[in-house]
Amino acid sequence: MTSPLYVTARLREAVRVLTADLHAAADLLRTAADVTLLGHVNPDADALGSALALGLALRKRGATVRVSFGPPAEVPDSLRCLDPAGLVVPAADVPAAPELLVALDAGSAARLGWLADRVGTSGQVLVVDHHASNTRYGTHHVVDDTAEATAVLVLALIDELGIPLDPDIARCLYAGLMTDTGSFRRATSATHRTAARLVEAGAEPAVLARELMDAHPFAWLPMLARVLGRAELEQAAVGGRGLVHTAVTMADMTGVRLEEVESVVDILRATSEAEVALVIKEMAPGEWSGSLRAKSAVDVRVVAAGMGGGGHRLAAGFTTTGTAEDVVNRVREMLRQPPVIASQAPRTRSRS
Ligand code: 5GP
Ligand code: MN
Repeated sequence: MTSPLYVTARLREAVRVLTADLHAAADLLRTAADVTLLGHVNPDADALGSALALGLALRKRGATVRVSFGPPAEVPDSLRCLDPAGLVVPAADVPAAPELLVALDAGSAARLGWLADRVGTSGQVLVVDHHASNTRYGTHHVVDDTAEATAVLVLALIDELGIPLDPDIARCLYAGLMTDTGSFRRATSATHRTAARLVEAGAEPAVLARELMDAHPFAWLPMLARVLGRAELEQAAVGGRGLVHTAVTMADMTGVRLEEVESVVDILRATSEAEVALVIKEMAPGEWSGSLRAKSAVDVRVVAAGMGGGGHRLAAGFTTTGTAEDVVNRVREMLRQPPVIASQAPRTRSRS
């Protein structure tokens, strides 16, 4: 049994380390003349919003900045509203040996995809992330797995640098905070205080929610009908806690964007009878990207890691090959004796 005194001491030590890391990172950024900021492959609003927000702030204090990622080659449609200033450059235009690289929301160098090699060729590498699995692959780190989004850590850095928020920066940070907390479903009072600051600085919640999450072409509806129509509920799986799953094949994806495909898991995970939801998406023939979601009891990060991926305790993913049936069988087997989330030390700002 962990004693409360020990827990308090451990938390105090974690805060001390993070504060020191924040100071060191801010010192690095304060004097940097040229900064390359990267988000993880298939960037979401937290990865791209965090990179753009920090890029905009550093540009304000005179630095030359560029933001990139890859794959894909272009900014996902729904995230374009985050980059009106045009900070994003194609991966091919990122210098071979950047002076200072900042990697955002990427738990490992491999998650930088086409640009992973820059971790080895850059002068300095600052890693800003909230994945528990972060491998600390930089020269400097601001890594806190109790932060609900990487955007929260970027806000702490911007504050540390003394750079004032503006509507463009606030929009990017709000986008990451909103999406990584499941539209504030997984929020604490601190999350709402942060959101309030960002709204006061000019972020527009209704506009952002529509652009990032609630705008789909009509073709989304027949795709959902097909894919949801094939969903299966396995009540006995996950040690009796229930698994709901479906597959999105390449044929299902014709005429829709990745945004529509990614929306499927958010519908599946609402199934009351299942603790775990699994959506496998066929990105190339026989190549599947899996999304796992848990409600509260099961640690799907462990399962995703077993499949070669990673993520958070309640939201994780992986990439693998095989037939759809194969992939579901493997995940089901790993979930047979599920890694149950232990009750543990109070975590103040945990995403999952
Ligand atoms: P999603 O299912 O939305 O793609 O991803 C959920 C979470 O899992 C993300 O926050 C991301 O951190 C993580 N994730 C998704 N796919 C992968 C993967 O292939 N490898 C790793 N390490 N993490 C992943
Ligand atoms: Mn994130």
